[in-house]
Amino acid sequence: MLAGPTAVGKGSVSAAIRKRHPEVWISVSVTTRPPRPGEVDGVHYGFVDDRRFDELVERDELLEWAVVHQTARYGTPRVPVDEAVAEGRLALLEIDLQGARQVRESMPDALFVFLAPPSWEELVRRLVGRGTESDEQRVRRLETAVREMAAEPEFDVTVVNTAVHAAAEELVGLMGGSLRAASSRSGPTEPKPAEPPPTE
Ligand code: 5GP
Repeated sequence: MLAGPTAVGKGSVSAAIRKRHPEVWISVSVTTRPPRPGEVDGVHYGFVDDRRFDELVERDELLEWAVVHQTARYGTPRVPVDEAVAEGRLALLEIDLQGARQVRESMPDALFVFLAPPSWEELVRRLVGRGTESDEQRVRRLETAVREMAAEPEFDVTVVNTAVHAAAEELVGLMGGSLRAASSRSGPTEPKPAEPPPTE
């Protein structure tokens, strides 16, 4: 389970894993936001309208869901996650903090990874650097980021996203270790502490 503040690069890290680690199953979320150029329905997200999203919530078909940035709803379909876990696959959910807290309730054995920026200044730079938001949206995202950064202690382990590929490799290594521990242990998982990733 990978979460972290807005603009920290969760999407880039999971894209790197998708490319280089086909053994990792990555959950495809559903969202009510429209597709961006290049995004494919069923690959990056399942793009649904409000009515369909309501239906999924009513039928309890989502493992978790949340309104992100006060704009669109995002959720994780439950059945594919259950199937991947039952098959013993390495499963990755890339979700926001509110979603992570819900998954914590229903899947307490999952490994919760916080993706952190190298520094607060770098996070601000990445956030502002997107350049597509209005001043008001930027302020809102910064406020969200402050809140999200404060949640780091809730997580099992932190990976610092200095370089995308290094962070992706570190995450896959942690997931592998956690799966082995889960299949052989009787007590709680004890992931190794994160080491600073090498810079590229
Ligand atoms: P974006 O619209 O940029 O693809 O994603 C916006 C935010 O939504 C990101 O912080 C991402 O982690 C979060 N997100 C994506 N999918 C899900 C999901 O299934 N559940 C939750 N709770 N958040 C999600």
